[in-house]
Amino acid sequence: MVKTEQRFEVHDVSVLNWARELIDRSPSHQTTAHEVVHSVHKNEIWRGRECLNLLAPEAPSSPIVRKLLSSEVGIRAAEGHIGPKQRWFAGTQYIDEIEALCMELLKKAFGVNYADHRLIASMLGNMTVYATMTNPGDPIMSMSQPVGGHSSNRKDGPSGIRGLEISDVPMDPVELTVDLDAFERVAREIQPKLVSLGASMTLFPFPLKEIRDIISEWGGQIFFDGAHQLGLIAGGQFQDPLNEGASIMTGSAGKTFSGPQSGIILWNDPNLTEPITDTIFPALAATHQVNRVAALAVAAAEFIAFGKEYMGQVVANAKALGKALQKRGITVLGSHKGFTQTHQVIIDVKEFGGGYPMANLLAEANIITNKNLIPSNRPEDWDEPSGIRIGTTEITRLGMKEEEMDYIADLIANVLQNQEKPENVKNKVMELRNSFQQLHYCFQE
Ligand SMILES: *Cc1c(COP(=O)(O)O)cnc(C)c1O
Repeated sequence: MVKTEQRFEVHDVSVLNWARELIDRSPSHQTTAHEVVHSVHKNEIWRGRECLNLLAPEAPSSPIVRKLLSSEVGIRAAEGHIGPKQRWFAGTQYIDEIEALCMELLKKAFGVNYADHRLIASMLGNMTVYATMTNPGDPIMSMSQPVGGHSSNRKDGPSGIRGLEISDVPMDPVELTVDLDAFERVAREIQPKLVSLGASMTLFPFPLKEIRDIISEWGGQIFFDGAHQLGLIAGGQFQDPLNEGASIMTGSAGKTFSGPQSGIILWNDPNLTEPITDTIFPALAATHQVNRVAALAVAAAEFIAFGKEYMGQVVANAKALGKALQKRGITVLGSHKGFTQTHQVIIDVKEFGGGYPMANLLAEANIITNKNLIPSNRPEDWDEPSGIRIGTTEITRLGMKEEEMDYIADLIANVLQNQEKPENVKNKVMELRNSFQQLHYCFQE
């Protein structure tokens, strides 16, 4: 075998070498297996109990959701659509029940006519949309990364794989929403078949009705990528895209929606039902992890029961954190508009050294965030962006409220402004976490 150092690798070679040496050194395969379990355990102690996890795409799923992910049904095969004649395999009657419950709970949670539960990632939902609603060579518009766009709607994602001609949705870098005048000019010229809205960095709602009015002239449609906002939408704390002009919506089940990591796709138009469903299966999902479907069904039931209260507090906490950070002299995006209307707070840390070193410094203090491009960056600033993205989903489900946001702003500011050693702040973070270990807004076992 070629040595790892001499072979081309996209991954970090030093980590791969660590794994290889550990495997070579292990006296038995059981010891190697034990090392895997050990790494899982270390993560559970550190990230699960000792950190402030402020990563915007994460959410702690409930105890029942987590238990269902290791259930027996996860070893069963269930290709196809729901119902005895629609599957390849016999013996699926209880699986049909689970999947039908999941689908109907999703429809109820979002108040829509159609939902699909089989996408093992939201990116596959985006692939489904592009495969169903566009043809290769069609013009579309989507958001670039510095203004919050996601690769799945750009050249390097599913829309690129589909061979679409992708133009930027013009965004106002100060108002952090679509620049409607510029949009109208560009859109009239290229007449996009689809306009993809929704973002990874997302603070404020989109003018969907206005955009719909412009593009419907030539039959253009809106695709809302609600990966991040899915929970906020189900909880009634954000705009309702499918009622405001979007034809179809996808989203990540494991972001604000707080279910198992995977994808959801939702629509109302019966004309889309056959093409969408027949693209998901047999093109993009076969063995779609029924354990995950069961977990998703329970997450949807929890959202119907607690989503409004849960997401209301998530947004209240994000606003409070934005305000508290600004009070401590940190530049917070969207401050003139109340900081945020989502689970996210975006700070500009260029003056402290930039997003990459600052996110790492915060992680030394057990405060987990991510570096992020912001509108003042260029797309190629990917490795050295100026911003940090903060999310309040996890700390909210752990029961934290506005009072704790004020304290967390102190901890963050003390690290960024170099007033305190990360090691010191880490002790305070662990102390805070210690009194918030129980999950709220979910069914107790
Ligand atoms: C996270 C994200 C995705 C991808 O979702 P996965 O569930 O991780 O596949 C797609 N679009 C946007 C805007 C995202 O933020």
